[in-house]
Formats: sequence, structure tokens, C-alpha cells
Amino acid sequence: MSEMRVEGYDAFYGRSQALRDFSITVKGGEVLCLMGRNGAGKTTALKAIMGTVRPAAGRLWLDGEELTGLPASEIPRRGIGYVPQGRRLFSELSVAENLEIGLMTRHSGQESLDYALGLFPVLRERMKQRSGTLSGGEQTMLSMARALCVNPSVLMLDEPTEGLMPSAIASIREAVVKLRDDGVAILLVEQRVDAVLPIADRVAFMNHGEIKARFDIEEVRSDKSLLHQYVGVGA
Ligand code: ATP
Repeated sequence: MSEMRVEGYDAFYGRSQALRDFSITVKGGEVLCLMGRNGAGKTTALKAIMGTVRPAAGRLWLDGEELTGLPASEIPRRGIGYVPQGRRLFSELSVAENLEIGLMTRHSGQESLDYALGLFPVLRERMKQRSGTLSGGEQTMLSMARALCVNPSVLMLDEPTEGLMPSAIASIREAVVKLRDDGVAILLVEQRVDAVLPIADRVAFMNHGEIKARFDIEEVRSDKSLLHQYVGVGA
């Protein structure tokens, strides 16, 4: 079973510290939700793993292989897929072209593409459409499908359901659960408690760049005050 391990990441923007001794392990077949208020450092944590923010300290392993310090272009090739906040599609390009870029990243074949499109059949009907004209939910699906084109053993998603309609949220959740059941390790950044409870196996809470608490989902389900304590009432 695959395993991604991050140990002791520190990261800075200028002199301001955005990650402090950030450590997590995610295993194949589980969904780990990273929660925390705005500015807690969740996005920075994912960027540091992807190598687009350079950590000042810390180490990264995937399946026992050390990836610490590899260039950002190399990280997806080693099997870490990333669905960034706001999706970051090439909006002028078609659905097919966006997927092609994903496939080229790791020289993946038709099988990876078929798997991704099997999760999101609606994309098959949209292959020639410019991705900027897709609905919000379809854009998220495309961003996920593109990430899956590298055939990742770990998939990291940054608030994928933000701003989507309930039906699209349900499709994204279903896909995340299917990926988990297929053995992918999922690291999901979420702010909304109701989005986390049905699909998380474990939850880690961040504040000021640091993980302050970790829970198994059963603990959180039986005592919701734990969640509100960390993400704020009403979240
Ligand atoms: P959100 O839920 O709002 O996306 P987050 O938990 O993902 O928040 P980050 O985006 O990682 O938090 O931000 C962590 C801290 O780093 C914040 O104080 C933020 O203002 C700061 N920060 C983020 N990106 C930059 C940047 N490019 N330059 C300077 N500071 C930044």
C-alpha cells in the first residue's frame, strides 16, 4: 500500500513563517482531511509538498523513496497528483487538450485516461469544449481527471467543492470515495465540517502553520464540538 510521509516542513514567505514543523502521513485507501481557518497554512502545506513553495526544512517520502528537494516538475511524475484551489485549468484549451497535458506529464497511456473518464463520464461528452466554458463542477472534475492522468498513488485536493452546487459536490465526493476505495491516498483540504464528516477517515487541524490536533473520524463524529473548537462555530 502506498504511503506519503512529510516530516518537519518549515516554510516562509519573506520573514513570515507559514509552516512550522508540519508533519503528516497519508496511506493508500484513506482520506485525511486537513482543516483550519483561512490563512492557517493548508494551501502552503500542499504547495510545499508539490515543490512550488520551497520548504526551508523538512523531508518528504513516497513509498519509502525520498523526494525531498526534487524540482516541482518532478513531483507529479513520482506519483503525487494535485488539484489546486481554483482548479488552474488552461481555460482557452479544450477538455481533451487539458487531459493531454496531464498524460504527457508522466507519459501515461490510454488506461489512465480511461480510468479518469470512467469516474467522470460527463467529460467524454465535452472533449472538444473549451474548458473555460464548462460549469464549475465540470471544471473541478476536469482538474481531478487531469491530476489522475499521472496515475497518482497520492491525490491532494485543495477545497475542491468550494462554490459548487449540491449535485456537483455529491459527484466530487463520490469520486473521492471511489479513489480511496481503489487504494489511492487522499489528502483533502476542506473548511466545511459537513463536507468532511461523510468521507474523512482522519482529520488534522492546522493553525498558524502548525498541526495542532489529529483525530480519527469517529472521535469527531461523536463530539462535534471538537471540530468547532478548531474551525470556528458555524463552519
Ligand atoms: P485559505 O483557506 O484562505 O486558502 P490556507 O489555510 O490555505 O488559507 P495559506 O494560503 O497557506 O492558508 O496561507 C498561510 C499564510 O501565508 C497566510 O498568512 C497567508 O497570508 C500567507 N501567504 C500565503 N501565500 C502567500 C504569498 N504568496 N506571499 C506571502 N504570504 C502568503
